[in-house]
Amino acid sequence: MTQCEICGAEIKGAAQYILIGSSELRVCKSCARYGTIVVDKKAKARLLAKSRVKSESRLYAQMDQEIEEGMVEDYGRKIKEAREKAGLKQADLAKRINEKQSLLRKIENEEIIPSGEVMEKIKRVLNISLLC
Ligand SMILES: [Zn+2]
Repeated sequence: MTQCEICGAEIKGAAQYILIGSSELRVCKSCARYGTIVVDKKAKARLLAKSRVKSESRLYAQMDQEIEEGMVEDYGRKIKEAREKAGLKQADLAKRINEKQSLLRKIENEEIIPSGEVMEKIKRVLNISLLC
């Protein structure tokens, strides 16, 4: 017999496949309303891709906000010091984070505040925390 993965009841007739977050569940007709019904494999792939993109952009928006709220005042100096300590030239670090050197120079001069994405990359490469 086929069991519903939500309520555990036996599924009579065709099972429904639904998506909740990124997991696919085999459910009975009455539980299908808890998620998005998967019509076919292509639709499922599309749904998965969409939910991934959404959560990533949400993450970056959140990081941007955190940076604006909690950025240390001398972030440029901190980045520069950490970069020099790591023995990296501006051009080296720029290459490592896949950004232009001119962007990095502006960040170090505190002419611009880096986006959450750029900030994450800098933090990862230099192993520093710039937030309070
Ligand atoms: Zn059910």
